[in-house]
Amino acid sequence: MLHVNSAFDRIGEENAFTVLARANALARQGRDIVNLGIGQPDFRTPEHIVEAGIRALRDGYHGYTPAEGMPETREAVVRRTLTTTGIEISPQDVMIMPGGKPTMFAAIALFGEPGAEICYPDPGFPIYRSLIDYTGAKAVPVPIREENGFAFSAEETLALITPRTRLLIVNSPANPTGGVTPRAEIEKLVAGLEAHPHVAILSDEIYDAMTYDGEAHTSLLRFPSIRDRLIVLNGWSKTWAMTGWRLGWSIWPAAGAGARLKEGARKLAVNSWSCANAVTQIAGIAAIDGPQDDVEAMLAAFDRRRKLVVERANALPGVTCTTPKGAFYAFANIAGTGWKAKPLASKLLEEAGVALIAGPDFGVHGEGYLRISYANSEENIERALARIGDFLTNEA
Ligand code: PLP
Repeated sequence: MLHVNSAFDRIGEENAFTVLARANALARQGRDIVNLGIGQPDFRTPEHIVEAGIRALRDGYHGYTPAEGMPETREAVVRRTLTTTGIEISPQDVMIMPGGKPTMFAAIALFGEPGAEICYPDPGFPIYRSLIDYTGAKAVPVPIREENGFAFSAEETLALITPRTRLLIVNSPANPTGGVTPRAEIEKLVAGLEAHPHVAILSDEIYDAMTYDGEAHTSLLRFPSIRDRLIVLNGWSKTWAMTGWRLGWSIWPAAGAGARLKEGARKLAVNSWSCANAVTQIAGIAAIDGPQDDVEAMLAAFDRRRKLVVERANALPGVTCTTPKGAFYAFANIAGTGWKAKPLASKLLEEAGVALIAGPDFGVHGEGYLRISYANSEENIERALARIGDFLTNEA
């Protein structure tokens, strides 16, 4: 009998990976599957970034780098942060990690333990909840509501804070809803957090480049009053279509209450992954400093698909779909179909050949919704939505 740490019984899954595996298995059996389940751009990494990676490999970037990342890559993040937020940070505040998820792990591991409370968005990226459960902390869902444009409500969020709250996780633009929290609401949230100096904030800004209809992303970095307890998660995966390269960055407090946090994250890196891949870090500099035309073309394509998804989804029987303002997801309301989300998603995959993720895979407040990723071609989006329409009509 082996005695495995019971924390592993509490750790969860990212169901998008399970659905992807099932979709691929069905495709291998010869089924024609349209995948609107996956949370990654369907574009290749821009060519000049790939070339920079190849050059780095030839130039001998084969060894370990410092655990917090190569100085040049951290400096590139400083430049990118200044461009996108107007805020000057120091390379010392930056950590480079193998993707965005390690920042999530580090931040939640730094604060989570039995007796602690961590507030997280629901529906939200499922790994937040999974990691909170892993640490033994109490997971406190912050409801993210359609009637609120899938934005955080400052009032509702602040009402959940107790003396035991250690960390609040914020995500905008958001997965799975595509919601963007407007600046005025973020200002209210930050003003409220000033009364709770014991609460650290993890702001997941990995979709910061992806907003539409003139909606601007507001980085929490812009607010000096919380800077000494703010961890910002960001990375290359989504903006530059680099999910498989595994490269992310985080920004940590330089001083004050949170000055020790980055040191904790650095030690975690030393004890686990050592450092992010050296070649990837060089490619990451090219991504930040190089031409952004491919990124702009990708965003323009996402914008067209977003409009197409919303139009087609709203034409489905019993379905309504709020226009998402960010990321590359729509969160379609299926209340009028009479279906629960999980059985419907399962039937759509097995019978109609369309992979989507059921809302409850993102939390209890996700019931009644399906997440549609529009990281797929317009042609495939048309085909998928037509199949869903046929399925709902025939099953009615
Ligand atoms: N944060 C959010 C909200 C995400 O949707 C994802 C990926 O889907 C991540 C973080 C993780 O990004 P990475 O692949 O860089 O670890």
